Amino acid sequence: MKIRPHKSLTFDDVLLMPRHSAVRSRRDVSTASQLVADITLQIPIISANMDTVTESEMAVALAHAGGIGVIHRFMSIERMAEEVRRVKRAENLIIEAPSTIDRAATVRQARQTMAEMEVGGLLILDGERRIDGILTTRDVLFEDDAERPIHELMTTDVVTAPQSTTLEAARLICHRRKIEKLPLVDEEGRLAGLITTRDIVNRLRYPHATKDAKGRLRVGAAIGVKAGEVERAAAVVAAGVDLLLLDIAHGHSTNAIEQTQRLRKRFPNVPLIAGNVASAEGTQALIDAGAQAVKIGVGPGSICITRVVTGFGVPQISALLDAYTVAHDAGVPLIADGGIRSSGDLTKALAAGAHTVMIGSLFAGTSESPGRILKRKGRRYKVTRGMASLGATMSRSDSAADQDWNAIVPEGVEALVPYRGSVDEVLTQLVGGLRSGLSYAGATTIDELHELAEFIEMSAAGLQESMPHDVELM
Ligand code: IMP
Repeated sequence: MKIRPHKSLTFDDVLLMPRHSAVRSRRDVSTASQLVADITLQIPIISANMDTVTESEMAVALAHAGGIGVIHRFMSIERMAEEVRRVKRAENLIIEAPSTIDRAATVRQARQTMAEMEVGGLLILDGERRIDGILTTRDVLFEDDAERPIHELMTTDVVTAPQSTTLEAARLICHRRKIEKLPLVDEEGRLAGLITTRDIVNRLRYPHATKDAKGRLRVGAAIGVKAGEVERAAAVVAAGVDLLLLDIAHGHSTNAIEQTQRLRKRFPNVPLIAGNVASAEGTQALIDAGAQAVKIGVGPGSICITRVVTGFGVPQISALLDAYTVAHDAGVPLIADGGIRSSGDLTKALAAGAHTVMIGSLFAGTSESPGRILKRKGRRYKVTRGMASLGATMSRSDSAADQDWNAIVPEGVEALVPYRGSVDEVLTQLVGGLRSGLSYAGATTIDELHELAEFIEMSAAGLQESMPHDVELM
């Protein structure tokens, strides 16, 4: 046995040394950062693949803001693929395959199709795929006769535009003709796509959104280490997922390395992130196995008790600094996963070598996370739980009734977090603090922060001084 000579440090052990800064305004800094080689985020923030944090609603919100969400894997393969599709459908430059319905269909069938497809309009085509009519939610909203054929209600005088129409031209057509949906047609008048005013509005409203080449929001999906998980990966890839994230508590393991190799080989064109590790050796092993970004964090998570239960882990700032020594040389970005409580922690994690951070419980308290708001003594809360907590382990058991509670050794806890409103509000605080942090470092980008950051270790008194003190908080 041996002991490493240096003390390992985490967020509250360190501060960043203020440096001369030529940055005149927080607006002059860029928070853009590389997630993997082909994907840059405008804000370096990922929502965690936890069942109390990221499903499609959170993923849409994060992608709108310029980050990304990773859908958790504690659901059936079919449901997970559907969650991915929901994000990919949420926004489009052009909807390539608009929903259609037969002209003989009834109002009831149309309502059902709209609900299933989560769309507000259906196109009615003739045998040559030319447009006969359009039916929108409004056309059927107050119709009492559910068996009435839709061709009696649809608009037949449909405004269309050529396939090559730009978004700006589409905006003007929608405005002038007072329509919300503009079908695009090819030279023969056949349906070739659809532009909606909602997509146009969203483009203006979310200028920094994380999008693919087709203008769809990006989303990631978590994959486990078991052999059957390759099937899960295939399903989410077919649903259009933008990246796979192999997520296992001990990523520096043969299981994780082999699964990384397997996923890399099977899906060579889909970016692959692997984790979690907390050392240079672990990082190198996953890079060698084909990971295009490596997730760092063994034990820093708010709901994590791995260090208590197993005695293993590395304080997060030291883990990142160690991993960065090899990741930087390999040109592979790091993701700091767990323990982020504030924008100060976010800035420290990035300064220690991460390109992006993953956040769990801080987002579990927002309205976009799965689960309901709970009230206790007049205060509002939501639930967060470790994916290795007793509750989470029990709920994914095939036969929960047969589960032997005593046989489960949880490495996570279940907890309440204050309700924080929309995730946008939390992001505004995080990103605002990061911008300010960059300017204290004299850095205009996160890459520059890596170069310029200088950590100092602080004493317990230093930490106390860092918080509000000797005042009564209002
Ligand atoms: P947080 O942002 O501090 O809440 O940390 C979130 C991270 O904790 C996740 O992204 C996971 O890496 C990690 N995590 C989630 N569930 C568990 C668990 O049950 N045990 C240990 N770590 C967990």
